[in-house]
Amino acid sequence: MARLKSENQQTAETFRDIIPTADRTGKRIWVFSREPKGRYYTWRKLVAWALLAIMFVGPFVSINGNPLLMFNLVERRFSIFGQMFWPSDIFIFAVCMIIFFVMIALFTAVFGRIWCGWMCPQTVLMEMVFRRIEYFIDGDSHAQKKLSAAPWTWKKIAKRALKYGIFFLVSFIIGNWLLMYIIGWREVWTIISDNPLNHLRGLSAMLAFTGVFFLIFARFREQACTFVCPYGRFQSALVDSNSLIVSYDPKRGEQRGAFKRTQPLDVRRSMGLGDCTDCGLCVDVCPTGVDIRNGLQMECVHCTACIDACDSVMDRLKLPRGLIRYASQEGINTGKPFRFTPRMIGYCGVLILLTAFLGYLLLSRTDVQATPLLRMPGQVYTQLPGDWIQNVYLTKVRNKARGPLPITLKVLEPEGGRVMLQGGREIPPGELVQLAIPVQLPAQALQNGHRDVVVGLYSGEQLIQRMKTGFTGPAESGAR
Ligand code: SF4
Ligand code: SF4
Repeated sequence: MARLKSENQQTAETFRDIIPTADRTGKRIWVFSREPKGRYYTWRKLVAWALLAIMFVGPFVSINGNPLLMFNLVERRFSIFGQMFWPSDIFIFAVCMIIFFVMIALFTAVFGRIWCGWMCPQTVLMEMVFRRIEYFIDGDSHAQKKLSAAPWTWKKIAKRALKYGIFFLVSFIIGNWLLMYIIGWREVWTIISDNPLNHLRGLSAMLAFTGVFFLIFARFREQACTFVCPYGRFQSALVDSNSLIVSYDPKRGEQRGAFKRTQPLDVRRSMGLGDCTDCGLCVDVCPTGVDIRNGLQMECVHCTACIDACDSVMDRLKLPRGLIRYASQEGINTGKPFRFTPRMIGYCGVLILLTAFLGYLLLSRTDVQATPLLRMPGQVYTQLPGDWIQNVYLTKVRNKARGPLPITLKVLEPEGGRVMLQGGREIPPGELVQLAIPVQLPAQALQNGHRDVVVGLYSGEQLIQRMKTGFTGPAESGAR
């Protein structure tokens, strides 16, 4: 078998001293990865198409009139699975973030960086959209290397213009699609279809999004995972020897040595050679330039391309698959199957508790929320004709729904009390409105000039919140 050593392949002794995509002077080594082929790649393509379909359909799906997902940072409105959230829901958001991080910790402890290889938007878009366009226009890695080294001819200029033109167009589409998750598809359509001069801010945002995506996918590529994303750095703290990671089996593979077709396998074994033919295919397909035979490395995004590549070599040599496979270090060293460790069980327990707590928060959440009733500063009580006493309170009412919300307030306890705001108010969506609430009770309802009063906040006929507060009148009023 031809020995295909890639430019960025490092020896076992030096690989930890430098990153695979830079030479010793710090100059970037461009990764011309070969197109993977195999069962994992097929599965990854299916997952990627499903995720891309969700991404493209998502902005047009609404639940109860609210977008499926919307993160409008400008207007501070958020919709998750059709449920509107406002800045006042920061507590729920914080719990969601904690759940997200515990899930990452759990998934990483069990499956290593499975998120990076299979679901991260950066990997999905890079490997399944931009890289495939590149293969289509420039050819596989050898053709790409040749084209890169070739002088600037009209053919090369035309290929580069075509490739980067399509990259820019795809970046524009993706950038704008993601913008729909921020400001909604109607707003994006208005910006595109209306006079550009009326939407200079929106258009600038679109161009900025497009430019960032274009630079990431045309030039920055795997460097985003290595230098920008913090997750790769966390992985060394999150994985342990029991985590299922993309691993090379050195017990089976070493000593490496070129495979000679004329040499029987038992002769190869008697020479102390293992199953690794040192063909370098696992390195050539790696989009981050890693040699997985050196062990787990920060740059490895667990894309499984090296598993497919090595399996194809093993198939050709009629050797069992799995020289590179999903396995834990413990499994490779001892041959024992994967098992859930107490740490993983602990993460599951925390995750279940947090999810239950989040469920409670969501189920008990209402579209209207009011702060407790506080007495209006400088006012104690007012005596009214007909032996009525009035106290005035302040409250702030937040409308968390997407549309305007009419509210009414009624005295629930004691009977016979009244709120002079009873005619109702309409709170605009997302607004926090302060209300002055005059509450009136007959003097005989008080005891020694005091009693508790309960005011109900209604949306239509639905009681949203009960607010209890103290009511004060002249000391001699009511029963003694
Ligand atoms: S691990 Fe597999 S793909 Fe990599 S060099 Fe060895 S035989 Fe080739
Ligand atoms: S080492 Fe293998 S799994 Fe890791 S990034 Fe490279 S090809 Fe993907």
